Amino acid sequence: MLKDQDRIFTNLYGMHDRTLKGAQSRGHWDGTAGIIEKGRDWIIQQMKDSGLRGRGGAGFPTGLKWSFMPKGSDGRPHYLVVNADESEPATCKDREIMRHDPHTLIEGCLIASFAMGAHAAYIYIRGEYIREKEALQAAIDECYDAGLLGRNAAKSGWDFDLYLHHGAGAYICGEETALLESLEGKKGMPRMKPPFPAGAGLYGCPTTVNNVESIAVAPTILRRGPEWFSSFGRPNNVGTKLFALTGHVNNPCVFEEQMSLPVRELIEKHGGGVRGGWDNLKAIIPGGASCPILPKDALEDAIMDFDWMRENKSSFGTGCMIVMDQNTDVIKAVWRLSKFFKHESCGQCTPCREGTGWMMRVMDRLVTGDAEVEEIDMLLDVTKQVEGHTICALGDAAAWPIQGLIRHFRNEIEDRIKHKRTGRVSAVAAE
Ligand code: NAD
Ligand code: SF4
Repeated sequence: MLKDQDRIFTNLYGMHDRTLKGAQSRGHWDGTAGIIEKGRDWIIQQMKDSGLRGRGGAGFPTGLKWSFMPKGSDGRPHYLVVNADESEPATCKDREIMRHDPHTLIEGCLIASFAMGAHAAYIYIRGEYIREKEALQAAIDECYDAGLLGRNAAKSGWDFDLYLHHGAGAYICGEETALLESLEGKKGMPRMKPPFPAGAGLYGCPTTVNNVESIAVAPTILRRGPEWFSSFGRPNNVGTKLFALTGHVNNPCVFEEQMSLPVRELIEKHGGGVRGGWDNLKAIIPGGASCPILPKDALEDAIMDFDWMRENKSSFGTGCMIVMDQNTDVIKAVWRLSKFFKHESCGQCTPCREGTGWMMRVMDRLVTGDAEVEEIDMLLDVTKQVEGHTICALGDAAAWPIQGLIRHFRNEIEDRIKHKRTGRVSAVAAE
């Protein structure tokens, strides 16, 4: 387990003081100007050497992403945009940073912006995060009063302004280009990529969009060194990370741990174990709604990181896990996700707009057992028609949970169809 002295988010549970004074007493904002003095190239190289992979779900290397920003100036301003539109079902880790440790994020915004030549950054916060917005705004105001933001921010010689933008509650605005559209005052609809935001982002200017946690860990990595950060986890999956456990664990929680620990250890040490014990586990969804479900059989040696999850046909995502015990109707759980993705589709591309509806309607029948067995393969075929054929990842995200369900629980689906187990069905149909 991670030792206390290696935790970055030491105020995760709001145990101490989230004010600037409290943050400074825990080591934040220490030597910020000295880090900036070392220059853009040094900062980006340190971030690359740390091996940090983006914490928003996709795991793209953070230092590499920063290096895509143009070095010279063609007259266009550069921007950092922090994606705080945390909306993935079961994901609630960035919320804790903004609630209890907002200065980790603000200091990270200054350093990252300097490294990418940005004099302004925007934090786009989820519409439902009201208390988090207030906590973050209070911390930003404190920083302006203390000279840590604004002209000559933190006496670094770099002028830097930080703006907090409150979203309106659309899941799709968490997709980075939809977020940029929304920030520009337009309807939140994803753009085609390329161009990636570093080439043409906010207002057509070079922009980097990073997750809250990716930015918030940067100052500590730069203070303690890339070797310290990369000493946790295993190659390609390094560092400390915020994880969450929800569902059928005795102690649902958000916690910081090192990467690449066994799934079972995380559940038992931090989550207090599965409700009814490990043998009562049925399945997990590892890191958010889009990550395919994994049954207990696949979890005996499971490692919680990007590579293990990918090699085992799921994904690590945000590291926020849904745990399901034997009582769970997994077909219903995935049906519920289908409903979610259908609702959140922005509708601009046909495979997603139509496909999410088709998938949901077949799931409607599977969950009630009121389908033909042949429809399972037909549904699988539809998921393949959607996957990889859409503008943004929402289409894939809608397809993958269904593929995972069919891969691991086909027997259960067939069983329901054959026996028309309608005991649960009426409850489902009523929703
Ligand atoms: P992506 O792989 O398309 O991109 C990840 C990041 O890397 C982006 O910033 C993108 O611009 C950059 N990138 C990728 N390829 C690049 C290239 N060739 N050149 C330059 N930059 C490049 O993934 P995505 O669509 O941004 O995110 C999907 C993930 O988001 C899913 O894995 C899901 O887990 C996660 N997600 C998280 C939440 C949440 O609340 N945190 C919500 C929904 C989805
Ligand atoms: Fe919109 Fe879905 Fe297309 Fe994404 S995949 S752009 S959410 S229609």
